[in-house]
Amino acid sequence: MDDVQGVRPVSPVPADRGSVSADRVGPVGEHPASPEDMGRVERAGPIRSPKVAVDVPEAPGGAGDAQVSTGDADLISDRYVDPVRPSRSVTAVRRLAGLLTVVPVLRLAVARYAVPPGVADRVGCDGCGVAVGLDRPLPALGPTARCPDCAGRVGAAPFLVEALLVVAVAVLALVDGPVAERVALAWWLGCAIPLVLVDLAVHRLPDRLTWPAAVGTWALLGVAVAAGAGAGAWLRAVTAGVALGLAFATTTLLLGRRGFGLGDAKLALGVGALLGWQGWGAVVTGLVLTFLLSALVGVVLLASRRVGWSSHLPFGPFLVAGTCATLLLTG
Ligand SMILES: [Zn+2]
Repeated sequence: MDDVQGVRPVSPVPADRGSVSADRVGPVGEHPASPEDMGRVERAGPIRSPKVAVDVPEAPGGAGDAQVSTGDADLISDRYVDPVRPSRSVTAVRRLAGLLTVVPVLRLAVARYAVPPGVADRVGCDGCGVAVGLDRPLPALGPTARCPDCAGRVGAAPFLVEALLVVAVAVLALVDGPVAERVALAWWLGCAIPLVLVDLAVHRLPDRLTWPAAVGTWALLGVAVAAGAGAGAWLRAVTAGVALGLAFATTTLLLGRRGFGLGDAKLALGVGALLGWQGWGAVVTGLVLTFLLSALVGVVLLASRRVGWSSHLPFGPFLVAGTCATLLLTG
């Protein structure tokens, strides 16, 4: 068939497909937005599914478009496969695999630093002394947390890190915000998981985790400013972080062991930044939720005689939980 007048040679059209007028050829590289558009692309090329290509005779006023029935359009839509974009299941598997690579790093942090104050960081199995590291992550740093030699437990309880990672991913998915802000939150959550587990195990928040949590969060929120967020939000975040950190540190100086630990003060630097980024209301809400949660758990533990009046509860997990709850409510 000869080309009719007005045909634009954008893409090669097989001779047996008929020709198409220039106004029917969509922008090159754009995906069809509607079944009607998809019908046009099928006729205009590039041809993705020769079996369902419809050869519509040219009619005045573009009547040919109307001849594509809804059924044809659905057929085309069902068979349309984007050759570039991976399917949802492939994307989900890739994300899951990406998450699993984080597990050994988090487990190593817990195993290293969950030691009493003044004791050297743990570098191997407590039972047999075999070295534990990222060069040989399984099974010691895997979900089962078992020493490869003596089968003793290494670090955090089996599947506990993985469960917290799922919670962290859920928080990240549910909190709205620009990408740069969510990267900052992801970093902080990544530090918070081992911090919570170490604090629960040995009642301490090591500098090796609290400082990276705070500095990384501040820096990444600074990147969010460069990406378009207001500088005022970053100043408020830093001010809130410093204010919370100083407030917690002051209780240590004034009350000693009855106050908060300096580890809590360093953790508060990052907590204050994340909450302050959202606004001063979020800072207040975060503190209220944190203290309510700790009071509630304290009462329950006292009532169940799990702890006594003189017991000292680790505060880091409450600070992390209160922060996440506030971000879910206000973020
Ligand atoms: Zn061992």
